[in-house]
Amino acid sequence: SKSEVCDVVIIGAGPAGAIAASMLAQDGWNTVVVERENFPRFSIGESLLPHCMEFVKQAGMLDALNANAEKLDFQFKNGAAFYRKGERSEFNFENKFSDGPGTTFQVKRAAFDKLLADEASKLGADIRYQQSVEEVVTHEEGATLKITTADDSYHLKTRFVLDASGFGRVLPRLLDLNVPSDLPPRKAVFTHFKDNIKADANFDRNKILITVHPEIEDVWYWLIPFSDGTSSLGVVARPELFNDEQTLEEQLWAFIHQDDNLSELFEQAEITQPARMIGGYSSNVKSLYGPSFALLGNAGEFLDPVFSSGVTIAMRSAVTAAQLVTRELKGEQVDWQIEYADSLKKGIDVFKTFVTSWYDTSFQNVVFFQSEDTEIKPMITSILAGYAWDESNPFVKSSRRGMRMLAKLCEAD
Ligand code: FAD
Repeated sequence: SKSEVCDVVIIGAGPAGAIAASMLAQDGWNTVVVERENFPRFSIGESLLPHCMEFVKQAGMLDALNANAEKLDFQFKNGAAFYRKGERSEFNFENKFSDGPGTTFQVKRAAFDKLLADEASKLGADIRYQQSVEEVVTHEEGATLKITTADDSYHLKTRFVLDASGFGRVLPRLLDLNVPSDLPPRKAVFTHFKDNIKADANFDRNKILITVHPEIEDVWYWLIPFSDGTSSLGVVARPELFNDEQTLEEQLWAFIHQDDNLSELFEQAEITQPARMIGGYSSNVKSLYGPSFALLGNAGEFLDPVFSSGVTIAMRSAVTAAQLVTRELKGEQVDWQIEYADSLKKGIDVFKTFVTSWYDTSFQNVVFFQSEDTEIKPMITSILAGYAWDESNPFVKSSRRGMRMLAKLCEAD
């Protein structure tokens, strides 16, 4: 079959792929993105964190994002609100400890991902939709990929491959890198609603609302409003807690009606698209890199959706890897373990501490602890805003110790 040559191949045109592609194209590399779907396409992961705005900016796409936000119904976001059985708590991202942006957006990913991909192609990346990576051979000098199109296939020879295929996990599958996550399996049921939330309701459209189930403490809901009067709502629980004899819509409404606040907010809400289900999404890999390849975003490790950290981690991995690929292609020595894997893992591990303590409820108690301790709240707010790599934050530097200390403090109250 036909054969082509390029500098870098990126698998997947989601946020990780688009950010990496735009940076590499701007560095002058002949960059091909192979994307299985046609855009726009649905994706879950709609609530962004402020830290990811820095990566959008580094990739040269921030002006386009801001210019199109209103038209695409992206909702301004400045924090996270929490609700548990009558208790309320709020974190305003602008009061965070770390430097950097304090606001972001909640986005319909079909439109958001298309915007980023279109910008990447304006900046020089060659994005090929409805093509899929089926085979790969990697070695020190580069890689050869077999790509299938609707009616044909061809080989692409490249100096470096970045896998940004998300839950497609192309290289982990083809190169046998998958290892199970040590987080217990959970599943999510979700859809979009015309929410009809009343203007005078106790609800701030500028914040994601995370609700803890009133009876089952490891079950939670997200409510992510958009600016056109629609919202994304989903529930996350262990698989056995779903009643699979009901339709997904019925299951979702049943969970909504178990919480007083969501029942009230969604009294007039109407579902606008078929509900979806995703499970077994937590994943891990043996290694985030190898000869002439690296894994970005969800194609590497994915933890859990509770703190909306997925897109931020994906974009951070993309920016870091793109800079390293440029150095490597220029002939510089790159230590992928230290400069990529270890450095990315630092922040992922911080989120992991927070996720684990969310589900064992110690962090939930911290969230609802009504103390205006002016020292600690900004540090926690920073992590919730995505700044999980800022080592001047004690909760980044030793997150497990910080979390244990906090949990004790809240118990003692
Ligand atoms: P993706 O966005 O998944 O993009 C991967 C792309 O690769 C896709 O376009 C796909 O079509 C393409 N692809 C796949 N296989 C192939 C192939 N063989 N060949 C070519 N292309 C291929 N994150 C947040 O930041 N905020 C949230 O609120 C949030 N909520 C979530 C809720 C749930 C229930 C779950 C499960 C996740 C959530 N996430 C959230 C995580 C978020 O979905 C992901 O972290 C994010 O989409 C990862 O981006 P990515 O670029 O790595 O991959």
